[in-house]
Amino acid sequence: MRTDVMGVGFDELTLEQAVDRGAVLAGETGFHYVVTPNPEIVMLARKDERFASVLRQADLVLPDGIGIIKAAAILGRGPKERVPGIDFAAGLMERLAAEGKRLFLLGAKPGVAEQAALRLEKQFPGLEICGTHDGYFKEDAPVIRAILEARADVVFVCLGAPKQELWMAEHGASTGAKLMVGLGGALDVFAGVVERAPEKWQRMGLEWLYRLKKEPRRITRMARLPLFLVAAVGTRLRGK
Ligand code: UDP
Repeated sequence: MRTDVMGVGFDELTLEQAVDRGAVLAGETGFHYVVTPNPEIVMLARKDERFASVLRQADLVLPDGIGIIKAAAILGRGPKERVPGIDFAAGLMERLAAEGKRLFLLGAKPGVAEQAALRLEKQFPGLEICGTHDGYFKEDAPVIRAILEARADVVFVCLGAPKQELWMAEHGASTGAKLMVGLGGALDVFAGVVERAPEKWQRMGLEWLYRLKKEPRRITRMARLPLFLVAAVGTRLRGK
């Protein structure tokens, strides 16, 4: 059973439980994908039924960011704990390294995924990164082939929303991978191109503010967050 937050159902799991579940999915037969919606993605899904259905069909739906938790609180329900995509990815990489599974990095500007691979292999000893590809490709077929030939178990898909979610749902099964995770700008962080907020800011739930400080052009995107919370208040008042 998922908990509905403004039309998107979220799994109520701790970070540890989510990583456990991800590690199981990475070893099961068949194709699975994980999405990590933030308020912006939920707002998008409210206007686009196809996108909403791609989120619904995901094997794991994790609340990335404090905005989802705040809206859930306004609605008087869980999830209570955020599960940032980037922390989920880090936990999963530890498990992949321990289990000898193969990880492919897809997305971001040319060169970023390679740089991320070098840093991640140092950070997670034993982690096998079997291939990389940038996120600015015109044709899907060569990318699908690259993942197939790399014999990837898991792929981090970092193309931004909604592109990454639609790509995983449409092409994931043809790549032979067991698990894909949509992770937005995570490769930029792993490569050290974009810095993550210091832990103190993260603990205060102010990661978004730190990002805004670093990338002021995000202001228009972030300005939608209060609207999201106002919409949550409206939903609550209507008693839904
Ligand atoms: N990106 C990509 N292909 C595209 C558009 C974007 O690979 O066609 C990458 C972009 O370089 C960045 C990531 O997708 O690394 C999206 O980052 P953003 O910070 O916008 O995502 P968020 O984490 O906010 O969802």
